[in-house]
Formats: sequence, C-alpha cells, structure tokens
Amino acid sequence: MAQTVAIVGAGVAGLTCAVLLAERGYRTAIFAKQIGPGTTSAAAAAIWYPYDAGPPDRTIAWALETYHTLLDLARDAGSGVSIIELRTFSRAGEIEIPEWAPPLGARRLRSEIPAAFVSGFRLNVPLMDTTIYLDYLAQRFAYAGGEIHSNRCVAKLEDVNPSFDLVINCTGIGARALVQDSDLEPHRGQIAIVPRIDLPYAVVCNDSPLMYAIPRTKDCVFGGTNQLSDDCTVDPLATARIVAECSRVLEINKLDVLGERVGLRPFRRSGVRLERAQLCDGRPLIHDYGHGGSGFTFSWGCSEAVAAIAAAAMGK
Ligand SMILES: Cc1cc2nc3c(=O)[nH]c(=O)nc-3n(C[C@H](O)[C@H](O)[C@H](O)COP(=O)(O)OP(=O)(O)OC[C@H]3O[C@@H](n4cnc5c(N)ncnc54)[C@H](O)[C@@H]3O)c2cc1C
Repeated sequence: MAQTVAIVGAGVAGLTCAVLLAERGYRTAIFAKQIGPGTTSAAAAAIWYPYDAGPPDRTIAWALETYHTLLDLARDAGSGVSIIELRTFSRAGEIEIPEWAPPLGARRLRSEIPAAFVSGFRLNVPLMDTTIYLDYLAQRFAYAGGEIHSNRCVAKLEDVNPSFDLVINCTGIGARALVQDSDLEPHRGQIAIVPRIDLPYAVVCNDSPLMYAIPRTKDCVFGGTNQLSDDCTVDPLATARIVAECSRVLEINKLDVLGERVGLRPFRRSGVRLERAQLCDGRPLIHDYGHGGSGFTFSWGCSEAVAAIAAAAMGK
C-alpha cells in the first residue's frame, strides 16, 4: 500500500510540496481553510528574488534550486512561468549586488537608470503569474492523483485523520495560531493591479518606500508595502500611494486600478522553519513555513528538502 501524506495549507508551499510528493508515489491530500483568493500566495507579485526572509546560509540554496526548476517550467506555456529581466535599483548610493547574483548573469547598470534612482543592476529571473501558476500546481497535483479538501480549518495537527502516516504543516502565517509560534510576524503587503503597460522589464526598489512594477501578460502589478500588521483589508490610501509612486518613477500617466490585493508575508524572526518534528500520537510531522517575502522564490528548493525528510521518515 502507498504511504499516505496529509498537507495542511494550499498556498504555494503546500501546493508545491503536494505536487512533488504525489508525483513520487505518495497518496497525498491537502486540507486547507482557503485555496486561491484569501491566501497570501494569491496576493503575491510573484517574482523570483530572495527578500524579507532568512537565514541566507539556508535560504539561498533553496532559492537557487527553485530558480533552476522554474527555468524548466518556463518552457511549458501553460505553467504561468516566464522569464523576465529584473532591474533592481537603489535610491541612495551604489547598489550592492548580492554574491549569488553574478553567477546567474547579474550586471551593473551603467545607464538607463530612472531619475528617481542612483544605481542598479539587471538580472533575468522567473516570474510566476499567480492567476495561472497556482491553478497549474493544483491541476498537476490532481493529475498525480492528489485530493484537495478546502474549507477545512485544522485546530490541532493531531486532528488530521490517523489514516495519514505523515503530516506536513504549510500554513504560512496560520502557523502562529496552529502551533503557537510567536516567532512569526505578519509583514503585510498590498499590491495594485493596473492595465498592461509598455514596460519590457520589471522594476524593483527595496529601499523605502518599497516600489515595484511587474508587467505580466495581461496586466501589471504595482507595489508595494511592508508593514507589521495583520489587517487584511485593502487600504485605499496605500493603493493611491503605490500607483502615484510607480507612475512617478516610470514617468507615466496615472492608470486605472483593476484590482487590489493584501497578503500577510509569514516572516519568522529566527528564519524559515523547515524541520522534522513529531505529533503527540507519534506520527512524523514536517514543518515548512515562515518564508516571509520569498515563498515563491524558495518553493521548489524547500519542497525538495521536505521530500527528502519525508523519505527518511517513512523509510523510502
Ligand atoms: C504583496 C506581496 C507580494 C509578494 N511578492 C512575492 C514575490 O514577488 N516573490 C516571492 O517569492 N514571494 C512573494 N511574496 C511572499 C509570498 O507570497 C509568501 O511567502 C507565500 O505566499 C507564503 O506561502 P504559504 O503557502 O506559506 O502561505 P499561504 O499562501 O498563506 O498559504 C497558507 C495556507 O494554509 C492554510 N491554513 C492556514 N492555517 C490553517 C489551519 N489552521 N487549518 C487549515 N488550513 C490553514 C491557508 O488557508 C492557506 O491555504 C509576496 C507576498 C505579498 C503579501
């Protein structure tokens, strides 16, 4: 009989783990309060770039593994993954190019620096269109025989049906309540979706005020905010500020807002929690949460690490 795995959470972390495990022969089911809208994942930008999560000695390896998997996925037109030039800028002084970036082809920009910035570098990175990519993961999981049960709020991980041999906790910011992890803090982010603009690359500035403009096939994502708050309601003033700042930097006229999204980045002060634990009833448990502003960027690397722990835990 195939070994059985229950994954709690249907954001990018839960869905990616689910795809890997189901495709490796585990009978896998997802249980989640929400799938799609309402999850942090559905509110993400979601460009590949390590941001607002650590520690770097563990996370950069996950990010690089994810980068290479996403390069492969970009060849599948139905995945919602594409490769885009990312231009990262600084408002103050010479930008520091992270040491992982030059081997991926990062180059300092000597010209083409918008007036709002003083320096920058360019790099080609994967971009996931969340309106396509999250459904793509869910469909790939279903094709591998997986089941998704939504509207299931798990109060305690021990409540997961004992017929499952292994439980994986991918609840994002929900882990704060579920496993009483007071190390997790909600880094609230808001984006505005505007009509497609003539911008052949993504523009990001992580200096305050955080600013990004990410063109997608049908629209463009303008951001952003990063504040300590668990308020998930849209702030119209924040949207107005985001649109005004992006328009100023890109030197374009203000655009209509097609949509607004808010999500809580699951930032964990001591770093991403990816480790084996045990339920009170003795079953193995794997935690995979706390990816902060990098849940998409770490997704495949973390899921491979989870799959390795699962194989060891189940003697596969
Ligand atoms: C504005 C914004 C922009 C971002 N941009 C990027 C970006 O460009 N690149 C990038 O890599 N990352 C980005 N991020 C970060 C990224 O979105 C998150 O790191 C990622 O979505 C976290 O995924 P997750 O699956 O852990 O959590 P979530 O997507 O929140 O999913 C958690 C799941 O667990 C379920 N759940 C929670 N508690 C329970 C419970 N008790 N019982 C049952 N189910 C439960 C939820 O319903 C949900 O299904 C951004 C985030 C925001 C807010």
